[in-house]
Amino acid sequence: MQLRDLPSVDELARRSDDPLAVEAARRVLARAREEIKAGGRPGDLAERLREELDSARAPHLRRVVNATGVIVHTNLGRAPLAEAALDRIRDIARGYSNLEYDIAAGGRGSRQDHVTKMLQRLTGAEAGIVVNNNAAAVMLALAALAEGRDVLVSRGELIEIGDGFRIPEVLDRSGARLREVGTTNRTRAADYEVAVGPETAVLLRVHQSNFRIVGFTEQPRLEELAQVARSHELVLVDDLGSGALVDVGDEPTARSSLAAGADLVCFSGDKLLGGPQAGIVVGRADLVEKLRRHPLQRALRADKLTLAALEATLTLAIDAPEQIPVVRMLRESPETVRARATRLAELVGGEVEETVARAGGGALPLTELPSFACAVEEELAAKLRTGDRPVIALVRDGRTLLDCRTLTDAEVDETAAAVRAART
Ligand SMILES: *Cc1c(COP(=O)(O)O)cnc(C)c1O
Repeated sequence: MQLRDLPSVDELARRSDDPLAVEAARRVLARAREEIKAGGRPGDLAERLREELDSARAPHLRRVVNATGVIVHTNLGRAPLAEAALDRIRDIARGYSNLEYDIAAGGRGSRQDHVTKMLQRLTGAEAGIVVNNNAAAVMLALAALAEGRDVLVSRGELIEIGDGFRIPEVLDRSGARLREVGTTNRTRAADYEVAVGPETAVLLRVHQSNFRIVGFTEQPRLEELAQVARSHELVLVDDLGSGALVDVGDEPTARSSLAAGADLVCFSGDKLLGGPQAGIVVGRADLVEKLRRHPLQRALRADKLTLAALEATLTLAIDAPEQIPVVRMLRESPETVRARATRLAELVGGEVEETVARAGGGALPLTELPSFACAVEEELAAKLRTGDRPVIALVRDGRTLLDCRTLTDAEVDETAAAVRAART
């Protein structure tokens, strides 16, 4: 075939009634021209047009199978939602809702009221507010309580979390001024005490999340910080990050932080809580009210789908935490994980291998969860990634490891099918 034998874009596009056909035909013909110039043959153009349209129609945001053993995987969408949360999203999304309507009074209501009761029950807080993510929660708290004033933070807590979320920059954007106290490895309550001045508004404690300082270290207990805050009539804000609501590892819970004297506690909805992406602030009612009234709240608030999923997840945290996938994966016994790995190995002819799974999401960085993987050929990793149902795995010591702590039973079958497809 020569260049002049190629059909025009319109001729080729007419083979399909797909509205994307012209754009697809243009791409198919451009590629065919390149191939002919390089001495190749472009093959069946109609078939290529169909493939091009299929790929143009395929969703870009897709479900993948997480076989990495990292439970709250930041690149893979963090927390998979519980069935109950998915049901609530469907129900709320398909029709109208009382998002900002008070059904009893027959008038305007607040979207911030829907999960308040549940947050009170779970954390013992007086009040709560939900925004888009925890970065927004911290930003809103600082803007509402410390704009134009000083915020004291330990030098050991001036952290960067994934994706460039840096505490000093968030503080700066909120309009507050950072006052560093203590040193990187040792900070005492007395360091906060001497740093308090007429401009001080907030003591901010930040959970170190994704790293630990070991050795010659000292951080004040939250109770001691609370005492400093109280004696100067300042506000103590605790950014917990991953925000466990039920006991997982040695992560502090929002309830324990409030009980220790924090005035406000901020945490993520989609880390250890295992719900939708959200930032939650709980604590003193008068302070939460200031956050609600701040103009930024309007820009940062959560949408109705998030609130629907969050309410369902919080209900599960009270009634049946094991039904929250993140909690289940964190708590599952090694024997159960091994049984899953054994089944996968039998399905694909792989080998069961001991591995170490992680909480991920910047939580419990030192915690190693005993886990099991099915090991298959190294060269399958790339094909598994690019298959119809992408499977994301780790390659180690010349083999692809399919970690079974982050797979559901149904995903074991999907993964087995993906391995078979990748081998052909
Ligand atoms: C993860 C984290 C954040 C940011 O939370 P997002 O929900 O990702 O916005 C803030 N502070 C700490 C301590 C964290 O661990």
